[in-house]
Amino acid sequence: MPTFAIVGRPNVGKSTLFNRLTESRRSIVGDEPGITRDRIYGEVRWAGRTARLVDTGGIVPDDEALIPAEIFRQARVALEEAEAIVMVVDGRTELAAPDLDLARLLLRTGKPLFLAVNKIDTPQLDASAENFRQLGIQNLVAISAEHGHNVGDLLDEVFAVL
Ligand code: GDP
Ligand code: MG
Repeated sequence: MPTFAIVGRPNVGKSTLFNRLTESRRSIVGDEPGITRDRIYGEVRWAGRTARLVDTGGIVPDDEALIPAEIFRQARVALEEAEAIVMVVDGRTELAAPDLDLARLLLRTGKPLFLAVNKIDTPQLDASAENFRQLGIQNLVAISAEHGHNVGDLLDEVFAVL
């Protein structure tokens, strides 16, 4: 089954997006020590097709200093397991250094990459999504994972490359 992954800093809305896209949680991985529950898999049905989705954000560091290490771990998982990657950022915050690091790393892999600028709950916020062009990711979609806005557009783009 084609697989895509969600990556991004804590609290940007990865799990909210995962829950919106998947009909039910399929499995929480891991018998192996160390990776237990560090990723969650679900199935996404769209336009008559099914793909597997990996939420790489199972571990949420409560220490800001651990975030860079966490996003590298997520990127590694995504690169190992996914054919396409959706990086999620919080469109209501400023662009942060770890976002730039993650985007750079993901862009280098050459895998199809999509930027979901999340928490754009109202059209007035659309302009803030444009700030994230600086990340250099061509495919940018402003979404609201909570309300579902533009989530279909994101899926159209992702499924086109799977
Ligand atoms: P994760 O750590 O990246 O998995 O983020 P979560 O999915 O746990 O969400 C973090 C917080 O952001 C929660 O309080 C969510 O309710 C909130 N959130 C997620 N998506 C949206 C959205 O589209 N709009 C708004 N306003 N809040 C959101
Ligand atoms: Mg989460």
